[in-house]
Amino acid sequence: MPFRAPADEFRFICKHIVPYGDVTTTEMFAHADEDVSDAILTEAAKVCDEVLAPLQRNGDLTPAVLENGVVRTSPGFADGFKALAEGGWVSMSGSEEFGGMGLPVTLSTAVNDMMSGACLALQLNPLMSQGQIEALEHHASDEMKALYLPKLASGEWCGTMNLTEAHAGSDVGALSSKAEDNGDGTYAVNGQKIFISWADNDFSENVCHLVLARLPDGAPGTKGISLFLVPRNIPDADGNPGEKNSLRVVSLEHKLGLHGSPTAVMSFEGAKGWLVGEKHGGMKAMFTMMNNARLGVGTQGVGVAEAAYQKALEYALDRKQGRSPVEGGTGTIADHADVRRMLARMKADIFVARSIEMATAVALDLAKATGDELQIARAAFLTPITKAFGTDTGSTVANLGLQVHGGMGFIEETGAAQFVRDVRVTQIYEGTNGIQAMDFVARKMMDGGEMAFRLLEEIEQCAEEARAKFPNMAGSVWSAAENMREATEWMVSQKDMNDRFAGAVPFLFAFARVLGSCAHLRAAMVCGPDHARTRLARFYITRMLPEYEAALAEARSGASDLYALTVEDLTA
Ligand SMILES: Cc1cc2nc3c(=O)[nH]c(=O)nc-3n(C[C@H](O)[C@H](O)[C@H](O)COP(=O)(O)OP(=O)(O)OC[C@H]3O[C@@H](n4cnc5c(N)ncnc54)[C@H](O)[C@@H]3O)c2cc1C
Repeated sequence: MPFRAPADEFRFICKHIVPYGDVTTTEMFAHADEDVSDAILTEAAKVCDEVLAPLQRNGDLTPAVLENGVVRTSPGFADGFKALAEGGWVSMSGSEEFGGMGLPVTLSTAVNDMMSGACLALQLNPLMSQGQIEALEHHASDEMKALYLPKLASGEWCGTMNLTEAHAGSDVGALSSKAEDNGDGTYAVNGQKIFISWADNDFSENVCHLVLARLPDGAPGTKGISLFLVPRNIPDADGNPGEKNSLRVVSLEHKLGLHGSPTAVMSFEGAKGWLVGEKHGGMKAMFTMMNNARLGVGTQGVGVAEAAYQKALEYALDRKQGRSPVEGGTGTIADHADVRRMLARMKADIFVARSIEMATAVALDLAKATGDELQIARAAFLTPITKAFGTDTGSTVANLGLQVHGGMGFIEETGAAQFVRDVRVTQIYEGTNGIQAMDFVARKMMDGGEMAFRLLEEIEQCAEEARAKFPNMAGSVWSAAENMREATEWMVSQKDMNDRFAGAVPFLFAFARVLGSCAHLRAAMVCGPDHARTRLARFYITRMLPEYEAALAEARSGASDLYALTVEDLTA
């Protein structure tokens, strides 16, 4: 059975798990009511199933190549992109004034999730444009907005982000690309960027690069960086792509996976660019794009997890090995306890990661529609969890999916291995998951843990509401929230940041586990005792939630034991 986009799952989450109703009661998003949302999910699912999913293997088997300086994309990708552009999917949540649909990010997140499951390599292209659209909407001049936004929204032009350099990866502030004022409102951008996703293609009229570079009077580090829009073809007086700019794709990387997405070394050789935002304010402007992309990348992880799960389930329900240990079973490997365990883990964690991504999206929409500071803080707090837990889930679920296939999982034709290879980079790009976790315990806890305590209170309240119906599950969830509160108090009381960083990854994981228990409990409350979602909730709360305790033991260890293990010890 081919990939089936899980539109119904989003309907359930929007109705029962996250307060999407609050979004549609705002003036800004009143038009995205249940009927409209429903129709959009149905239509998007159709595009995923019929247009994108059939391209998934093409990208893997016939990667994009560089031919005489031109990037040739995988078979079918040009038509696939055209369908996305014509359907208006590139700029679902972009402003209507500039050709977007003005829809909530909650809906575009659901669509991005489904599209990532269908064909991650192609979906990465519009994701980059979406980030660029948001950055330009917030920081570009009116003239630039009028010129670029409608073209990006329609998909006639595509967007990229150029941060990384050979010596400036996680440490973006170490970059050495330079920009000089041409004295005519433009800048000459020089430098080499590496790992640039979708740096070029053979299906859009133009490619617009957002490039981080330093002006001559820019201070060292992140404070002195500016952001420039550098188009491949310089728009002429009528706004059409004109003269070729002084930039080129030097080479394409040979990657573990995601072969359909060209990843380039880019050279800017006095290329003409336009300043976006303030001089030396590039990081602020780029952060708009990066935050958008962090939610988007977390969502990519969840989408791939869904596809890997569907494939594994189908295989498990077909493959027969050994005698079924259960009366009246299916007679397939899905009857074996360990296979059942793997499938249940996959399904349970997809629901958790998806609920978290949707909660982030709802907070972003409420923040935009109401300007409420609490929603802004909530979205910011949830973003690193969405990115790191979403992509870790993508990877662990894809690996479990491969395992369910046994030896056939290791054979490429099955397609299970492609998910493992494709999704792996989502844990690395857009800030590695280690960097996300550090952001979580440092910047996102500059409020002394206030947002964390607020969310934990909500979980305890949910547990209280569930206590009469599901006393055991509710008790476990309540205790987990309470322990998480103590661990958060410990975390924010660490004055030496390295003590926080040493446990940041397990701390973020523990937080996600506890958030997930609330999502599952809510689902059980909605569905009642004799329901598949309630049985899944019980599985999660009994078997997976307790993992938070081990994670917290590590999270609260501080840095000293890590450094007690010396570099010499590691090399001994
Ligand atoms: C397929 C692909 C597509 C990409 N697309 C783009 C793109 O479109 N645009 C773009 O600009 N970039 C892109 N990137 C680059 C990507 O964002 C970087 O690879 C990533 O940010 C990590 O940087 P790095 O590779 O230099 O690793 P490094 O920064 O060298 O990190 C190596 C390891 O050290 C850890 N580390 C580094 N610093 C710290 C620290 N301070 N504290 C703790 N741990 C630390 C990291 O977590 C990691 O585990 C892409 C990369 C790939 C592979």
